[in-house]
Order: sequence, then C-alpha cells, then structure tokens
Amino acid sequence: MIEIEEKKENFCRLCGSYFVKPFKEPLWKCLACSFCFIPVSKDRETEILRQYSLDQVSTAAYYKKTVEIDKKNFYQRLKTIERFICPTTLVDIGSSVGTFSELAQEFGWQSLAFEPNSVAASLAEQKGLRIINDFFSFEACQKNSLTSFDCAVLNDVLEHVVDPVSLLKDVGKILNVNGLVVITTPNIDSYFCRRYQIKPAEHLVYFSKKTLRQILENNGFEVLLCQSVSRFRHVAAAAKNPTATLSVFDKIIGFIAKINFINFFLAWGLKIFVKDEIFIIGRKK
Ligand SMILES: [Zn+2]
Repeated sequence: MIEIEEKKENFCRLCGSYFVKPFKEPLWKCLACSFCFIPVSKDRETEILRQYSLDQVSTAAYYKKTVEIDKKNFYQRLKTIERFICPTTLVDIGSSVGTFSELAQEFGWQSLAFEPNSVAASLAEQKGLRIINDFFSFEACQKNSLTSFDCAVLNDVLEHVVDPVSLLKDVGKILNVNGLVVITTPNIDSYFCRRYQIKPAEHLVYFSKKTLRQILENNGFEVLLCQSVSRFRHVAAAAKNPTATLSVFDKIIGFIAKINFINFFLAWGLKIFVKDEIFIIGRKK
C-alpha cells in the first residue's frame, strides 16, 4: 500500500498535490508529477534564509576557492546563451562572489546581481560589480526601482529555494517579452546527483529534465534548450564542503586532489563522464 502523507505543510511545491511519499531519504516524491523535494517547515525555512545571509552555508570562502574553475563553466554557459540572444541587460540571481557577473560583463552584458550573503556581496562589490545584498524577488526589484531585463540567470540557485514556482513567477515579472531565463541545477535522474548532491542543509528541491521543463512551461516560458551537462570541478574544494555527505574514499580522493595536476585530471574525467546537471533556457512568452 502506498504511504500517503497529507500533513498540510508537506505538499508538492511544483503542482500543489498532497499525494507525496518518501523517496530516497531525506527526499519525498510527488505521485502526481514526480517532483522531488525535502519537506521544510516555516521555522526551518526562516532559519535557512538566516544562514544564507550570515555566510553560514554556501560560504563566500568556498566560492572564492572555486573562482578559476567556475569561470571555465560560466564561459561555456555564456557562449551557449549567445546562441539565443545578443548581450543586453542581465540579472544574475544568487551571484555569490560575482564570478559569473564579472565574466558576463566581459561578454558585453550590463549585469546586475542579487546576493543575500553579505560577505559574498561585499567581495562582488569590491570587483566593481552592481550588486544588491538581498534575496531576489519582484518586491526587492520594485524597492530598488529596477524595471526589466532581457535575461535572468540562476546558476545553481533553484535547488536552494523552498518555493521554486514563486521564484520563477517573480523572474517572469521582471523579464521583457522574449527575455530569457537560464537555469543550471542538479539532475535527480543522475546517479552522481543522488550520490553527491543531496545536501539537506542547502538543496531543498531536486529537478529532472521533465519537472524542470514543467515548471518553465507552467509559468509562461517556452523551452528553447534543455540538456544534461557536466562541469569542471575543484575536487579538493568540493571535498571540504561541510554540507556534503562523503565516504572515506571520497575524502581520500579530495585530499589527493590538493595536488594541482591531479585535480586537473580528475576535473577533466568528471567533466567527460558525469552528466549530473541540467542546463535549460526558456523564453518568456
Ligand atoms: Zn507534484
């Protein structure tokens, strides 16, 4: 018999169904649309938001270590975005230390970033970037007299929010017609995602290609591109991430990867063989 959870706080944040069941601990899965998520109470959500603001999770120190390798990934994403739109105005949602925004400006974009982590926002500001030290929302845009953008980018952000539908609706409100939303997020259909990306302290919702398409199409976007992707990784830095669940073997690999050329070869190997993320571009109708 299928176990059905009908507590009011535990429902699918994608389709609204209460027909949800435990999946892979600590995940739950919606029986109606297959969306995967970690149930979060209102108090827990408040605590999570506080931790982001205070640099206690997704820390600036971590993203400072990965700047060079992040640039390689962001370069490829920007080249792909250019296939669909010429550089104009862009909002970088959850920019951390501003690595993507900085590179986007080199590509010719007028970039504005939102980042709730005050330490990361301050580092981005020191690079001369336009940054708002706040969570992105339509209200925050209005408060800062921001009108509209041609492109909104969410690099590894959507998996961190309790209510991705609200976020996508707000993105739709600040995009011009035909504006693009560009998202990269872990792919729950990938073994490596299920093995390494399930981080209850940070990642609260988990998409597949099907559910990511669904959230865009249900919220006013036409999907232009949806592909499984890999990234270059800083293996030694990833192995020190306090929210990762790692085996002794993983920790040994992470330790050895402190040697630059070993990290380089591991990064290439993972890039070639591990397709654990989804890259999607949607156009506002
Ligand atoms: Zn659902």
